[in-house]
Amino acid sequence: MIIKGIGASDGIAINKVFKLEPVNIVISEDKITDITNEITKLNNAIKTSVEELQVIRDKTALKLDEEHAMIFDAHIQIATDPEIARQVEDMIKSDKMNSAQAFSVVSEMFAQMFENMDNDYMKERAVDVRDVSLRVIAHILGKKLNDPTLIDEEVIVVANDLTPSDTAQLDRKFVKGFITNIGGRTSHSAIMARSLEIPAIVGTKNILENVNDGDFVILDGETGTVVINPSNKDIVEYKKKNTEHQQQKALWAKYIDKPSITTDNKVVELAANIGSPDDIESVINNGGEGVGLYRTEFLYMNNDNFPTEDEQYVAYKMVLESLKNSKVVIRTLDIGGDKHLDYLKMDEELNPFLGHRALRLCLERTDLFKTQLRALLRSSIYGNLHIMFPMVALLTELRTAKTILEECKIELKNEGIKYSDDIKVGIMVEIPAVAILADQFAKEVDFFSIGTNDLIQYTFAADRMNQKVSYLYQPYNPSLLRLIKLVIDASHKEGIWTGMCGEMAGDQIAAPILLGLGLDEFSMSASSILQTRYLFSKLSFTKMEAMAKKCLTFGTHEEVKEYVKKTLKGEK
Ligand code: PEP
Ligand code: MG
Repeated sequence: MIIKGIGASDGIAINKVFKLEPVNIVISEDKITDITNEITKLNNAIKTSVEELQVIRDKTALKLDEEHAMIFDAHIQIATDPEIARQVEDMIKSDKMNSAQAFSVVSEMFAQMFENMDNDYMKERAVDVRDVSLRVIAHILGKKLNDPTLIDEEVIVVANDLTPSDTAQLDRKFVKGFITNIGGRTSHSAIMARSLEIPAIVGTKNILENVNDGDFVILDGETGTVVINPSNKDIVEYKKKNTEHQQQKALWAKYIDKPSITTDNKVVELAANIGSPDDIESVINNGGEGVGLYRTEFLYMNNDNFPTEDEQYVAYKMVLESLKNSKVVIRTLDIGGDKHLDYLKMDEELNPFLGHRALRLCLERTDLFKTQLRALLRSSIYGNLHIMFPMVALLTELRTAKTILEECKIELKNEGIKYSDDIKVGIMVEIPAVAILADQFAKEVDFFSIGTNDLIQYTFAADRMNQKVSYLYQPYNPSLLRLIKLVIDASHKEGIWTGMCGEMAGDQIAAPILLGLGLDEFSMSASSILQTRYLFSKLSFTKMEAMAKKCLTFGTHEEVKEYVKKTLKGEK
């Protein structure tokens, strides 16, 4: 059986399925007859839960730190709490209650007791009790708790959706790919898959319903094809394709130390998008010439609370230092849309992508904004820092953000803390209003970076997370290309540069058009850099300029795509 989805991250994986879905727990009220057997069941479930929690604890200590691991020490304590166990056993013995029901009743009593306490810290322990209770009850009922941390063999994860933090938790050693029911090419789990270099397919609509745990599947992340329980012939065919893919990668790898230059000597910059200092290794291994986008929100998302100024400073300094004097564009907090913080209460919104997100939120929560700006300023002495504001719609927003940045500089100066006097400030161009008014914005910034993931969703009014409207993700549509041209031309007129950090920058059909439109910097998943450098080395800038000019005269995305494909065939 074949299922089609949206190819989100290139590569082929052939492995067993591990379904990651919430467990459906139904607790019956059936009375028991064999007390001893029920107590043994309970004790076994507690024992298995503790063993699992110990594994999760150790892995968390390794991947994150001891502080995060301690959460699971607390879970182990709850699972082995003698008072809970005594009360559960009493209920089994005196009321003949089954162990799942008894554990649920007792743990809920404890959870509510915590919830009613005055102290915020103790209140939050209710969540831990319920979490542990779910684990123990699942084991009593013989159900599998789908915890990605427990994966200890090579698998392909199949889920309805993966949040960016679920994706961050996947262990590359064991998770060879993932496939989801929902999501689009620019949803953040897809973007993360590319930076983790895990083959992935999103937006299949119904993969979860069509596979069982342990089924064998082939995942082709380039074409978005899933083959369920493949024949030997399929396996041979895809293994061959995989070998060819590896050979191609070996050819691209030869371009690691070469400049990004066309046949007629036009030089551009190929930079990488990162989500954490851990990604720097991959930037260097893939020949990235700098960082065109550091999405700092993952620093916030992988935390239980707002990262402090010092924590942020350490992360930014690490990135700047590792890249020596190469350009590093660090984007201020872009939370909202599909990126949430459990610890930041936000109002329910009907249209979160059009809502109170990113810079809009920062301009209201200036306390959060200033903490980040101070950390950025302090880190600036370690490299070539560019600060970038996301989701700017108005010049007045940009001006307010710049004023707050200046206030932070004055604060630091008064405190005797150093910062570089050569920090560049730019904006993401991801709202059409800014692209149209780029000539005005260009007078007040040092650079532009076009965020096409959002610019496309706002230009075509199509939610980037909704696969039903994913056909409207049209990077080659002339209306979008004309907007991009406006931005590039306006920046050059003011003597500043324009980059692109949306996924379109690494698209092998779009990149030559962008080259021809005069884009200065292309920032993409590190895994796409070498392929793009190789592509550019075969192209003539003059010809790409002519090609781009012609693209602007077409009416549809498809016409542009066909024309560019044909032109590139003649070039390469
Ligand atoms: C974009 O919108 O193109 C972008 C790069 O930002 P994000 O994907 O994080 O919204
Ligand atoms: Mg964006």
